[in-house]
Amino acid sequence: PPSAPRSAISNVNETSVFLEWIPPADTGGRKDVSYYIACKKCNSHSGLCEACGSHVRYLPQQTGLKNTSVMMVDLLAHTNYTFEIEAVNGVSDQNPGARQFVSVNVTTNQAAPSPVSSVKKGKITKNSISLSWQEPDRPNGIILEYEIKYFEKDEETSYTIIKSKLTTITADGLKPGSAYIFQIRARTAAGYGGFSRRFEFETSPVSVAASSDQSQIPIIVVSVTVGVILLAVVIGFLLSGSCCDHGCGWASSLRAVAYPNLTWRCGYSKAKQDPEEEKMHFHNGHIKLPGVRTYIDPHTYEDPNQAVHEFAKEIEASCITIERVIGAGEFGEVCSGRLKLQGKREFPVAIKTLKVGYTEKQRRDFLGEASIMGQFDHPNIIHLEGVVTKSKPVMIVTEYMENGSLDTFLKKNDGQFTVIQLVGMLRGIASGMKYLSDMGYVHRDLAARNILINSNLVCKVSDFGLSRVLEDDPEAAYTTRGGKIPIRWTAPEAIAFRKFTSASDVWSYGIVMWEVMSYGERPYWEMTNQDVIKAVEEGYRLPSPMDCPAALYQLMLDCWQKDRNSRPKFDEIVSMLDKLIRNPSSLKTLVNASSRVSNLLVEHSPVGSGAYRSVGEWLEAIKMGRYTEIFMENGYSSMDAVAQVTLEDLRRLGVTLVGHQKKIMNSLQEMKVQLVNGMVPL
Ligand code: AMP
Repeated sequence: PPSAPRSAISNVNETSVFLEWIPPADTGGRKDVSYYIACKKCNSHSGLCEACGSHVRYLPQQTGLKNTSVMMVDLLAHTNYTFEIEAVNGVSDQNPGARQFVSVNVTTNQAAPSPVSSVKKGKITKNSISLSWQEPDRPNGIILEYEIKYFEKDEETSYTIIKSKLTTITADGLKPGSAYIFQIRARTAAGYGGFSRRFEFETSPVSVAASSDQSQIPIIVVSVTVGVILLAVVIGFLLSGSCCDHGCGWASSLRAVAYPNLTWRCGYSKAKQDPEEEKMHFHNGHIKLPGVRTYIDPHTYEDPNQAVHEFAKEIEASCITIERVIGAGEFGEVCSGRLKLQGKREFPVAIKTLKVGYTEKQRRDFLGEASIMGQFDHPNIIHLEGVVTKSKPVMIVTEYMENGSLDTFLKKNDGQFTVIQLVGMLRGIASGMKYLSDMGYVHRDLAARNILINSNLVCKVSDFGLSRVLEDDPEAAYTTRGGKIPIRWTAPEAIAFRKFTSASDVWSYGIVMWEVMSYGERPYWEMTNQDVIKAVEEGYRLPSPMDCPAALYQLMLDCWQKDRNSRPKFDEIVSMLDKLIRNPSSLKTLVNASSRVSNLLVEHSPVGSGAYRSVGEWLEAIKMGRYTEIFMENGYSSMDAVAQVTLEDLRRLGVTLVGHQKKIMNSLQEMKVQLVNGMVPL
């Protein structure tokens, strides 16, 4: 028999292992040498090994290999394996001696979960389909949630995504008698696995539920049911009368609190026929028709009220229960509450109100946001439920986002998320922006404060408006050419000559990336708007946030290319982020402390000694006086020396609290910015 193969090397990629070796020195004088791979899975504590089992696949095969390489796939994540590569020939069977092999030990890496392979349908009605499924064969970690994507067959461009921590869901609001395609994927700390294959299920036809040939049902049941319905209708009419006696709006909302069980009769006021049909028309008219998904500027309507009713559904105020005030918008309070529509379960909503005493223009501008929002249908765009215009107060009702606006949420949870979670947020925002740019809508005010985040950490783009958007935004400043612009978030060409495009939205997206990765830090800190414009014009850019993966900072810099045609498009950003999420090891390379310094907004100039007379004075000024002694003892006794401090130095000095590291590094950066822009003589 041949001697053992030699110099085996391995290459591990997540849960795949590639092995390569050189043929044996001694072939046994024969030409029929082939190779066999034995696979053993070993316990890292006991050292005991067992055979790998049949789930491992060998490419091209396990035995009779003619080439000197093989690939094993579908191994378990985070597992020690030993592979024995044995050379055999026609007489190996006859050999009573020990097998001749070379062995290789490897440990597999983290990997995304394998696809969900079996999905079963549960209860099916004319409007809903319930599903259940099995955990993936190889979860490769703890499954955090599932993402269920579904769409009407042949309508793939318009899909819905539901997230679920359980292995069951019910998709409702579906069309009767229609086929829907479902795909499911699991998410672990390593990111999303691949989607399952497509599963097709059909809702029951409308005639089944409404069928009149149910003559077998005992008459008595029918009459009791009819009686109950009649009674309910009478109560409904009585209540409806009392609602109008008291004036609709807040009073009726409060009534909804008092009689929560009676809100069952609520629906869209236009929905005289089957409410599902209504919904279908609505979608067909504006969004769901493939190929006609373009944004229509409500300004093109002579009558703005017509635009609102074209794009937004009218909701009866009595369907809304106001619970509490959660924020203040330009036009009035923003509240949380609940919406109960006919045939649907009550669900939480946000309600924007138009304060009393509004002018006609304010009403138009307020409802303008609904006219825009109502045209969008995407999981990363805030979803409009409808408007209340027929009673006062006028309201815009949207889905409720439990965690509020993204900037405040991140500031409140500084340092609490994994990089993958942050990238997941960014991916959502990019996906929403891709949808908007595909629709031909330019946002103009993309910033973390205008992103909302829900309890599943799904980010959605919000704050749509016409001219009013920028007028509302406290960050927007008047430019010399007129018009208000949120300078820190806006591309230079949009500031200089109001060239707002999806490419200028990409610039703003880069700033949002920076805000997210620095947990809500204010871009350019306390620099004045004028200084920001000047610095950006001169080619300076924001430095990398702390502990930021290099790939993400590079993407930010790409978004901030001066030439707008060189910036990435939103679909490219989405694919890039997807790639990073699928391959989390690519996020491990951080922008290191020293390159953070060289990437500063400013040149490499020492801080100087003007602004603060001593290190102690500086540290006191930023409330970090407790570190003065440590700085002095370690040779950072002058401001010039302090200018060279890197994040690693800070850690070495024992400044371990992230908040303190940030304060010190940001103050240093700020001083350098001011120096270069000549604003503060240091
Ligand atoms: P806006 O006028 O849209 O900027 O809203 C003002 C504030 O109300 C926001 O900053 C959020 O804190 C809150 N808010 C607005 N819409 C929602 C929503 N759909 N869900 C939860 N909070 C919201």
